[in-house]
Amino acid sequence: MRSPHKQPLLASVIALLVLVACSEPATEYRQSLFIFGTVVDLKLRGVSDQQAEEAVQVVERAFQRMHQDWHAWKPGELSALNQSFASDKPRPVSPFLLPLITQSQLLFEQSEGLFNPAIGKLIALWGFHGDELPSGAPPSPEAIAAMVKLAPGMDDLEISNGQVRSHNPAVSLDFGGFAKGYALDIAIDLLHQQGVESAIVNAGGDLCVSGDHSGRPWRVGVRHPQGGGILAAVDALDGECLLTSGNYERYRQYDGVRYPHIIDPRDGGPVRHIASATVIDRDGGRADAAATALTVAGSGGWYQIARRMRLKYVMLVDETGTVYMNPAMAKRIDFQDGVPEKIIISDPL
Ligand code: ADP
Ligand code: MG
Repeated sequence: MRSPHKQPLLASVIALLVLVACSEPATEYRQSLFIFGTVVDLKLRGVSDQQAEEAVQVVERAFQRMHQDWHAWKPGELSALNQSFASDKPRPVSPFLLPLITQSQLLFEQSEGLFNPAIGKLIALWGFHGDELPSGAPPSPEAIAAMVKLAPGMDDLEISNGQVRSHNPAVSLDFGGFAKGYALDIAIDLLHQQGVESAIVNAGGDLCVSGDHSGRPWRVGVRHPQGGGILAAVDALDGECLLTSGNYERYRQYDGVRYPHIIDPRDGGPVRHIASATVIDRDGGRADAAATALTVAGSGGWYQIARRMRLKYVMLVDETGTVYMNPAMAKRIDFQDGVPEKIIISDPL
């Protein structure tokens, strides 16, 4: 039989445990948002729950606007702009969208055209402008070659006085390789504006951090190219972003062949040789664009592109699991579940 005297003691132990558990959220506030078709996890430290909640609401509203106005194929500002490229007429672009275009022009140039958000029609041709993954046979080589020949590029766009025109009707903007990183930066800025100094905003392994975690750097994971887990851990410092482009989640599968969603603008075909590229940089948009460009550049070309883009920390994983890194990245990477069999360290960047 249970002693009646023990119950108050048990109750106070439980109360204490609850108290301990409850004191945690006071130092770390967590919330997940579902946006851009993915879950974005936010952790905020050093502010009250109420401050944190309000700050997250501001971020959520900004994310919703981005999702609408930067969408490549659903109605919104970007798709209206894309339609306007059929003619050579200039069209006013809002200050919300314009920086994506101007920054992408620079990143296009620095990446020697490997990061090329002007290839929206090619990405659509491969079937990646839909909520569902494409199925069935890939597009014909003729259709791909015809698109490549039209050579849409960010240098076809002319920007003046807040107006944009395209000198090439084949241009169609798709910021799928850039917007997430750029959005993460904005999220951190919005948190700062609301007095949140210490935070992490994590969109499925693509993340930016601010401040630290009780005097220690934020410890974050690099996505594994095969099957959802973590390949390595890294200490992310105040103001850094870590972005990974992967060919392992979004692809078309046909006749036993995978056709992933990162497209080489030079031949119009999907990149198969590289499974993932990871970049750490203080600029989220740049890191995202760079990770896409390095995936396209591949194991033979990444070093040159990384230098041209002035990147400091780069890691690629090819389809056989071989890892390529620059020495500064190698120093920071802490492999989980065993060190990969083959690691190739480049010269310093
Ligand atoms: P992930 O979605 O795994 O983070 P990326 O950041 O590389 O990978 O984004 C891939 C998306 O970028 C594609 O779905 C497409 O919308 C767009 N894209 C594909 N190829 C290119 C390219 N060469 N340059 C710019 N954007 C691209
Ligand atoms: Mg990218």
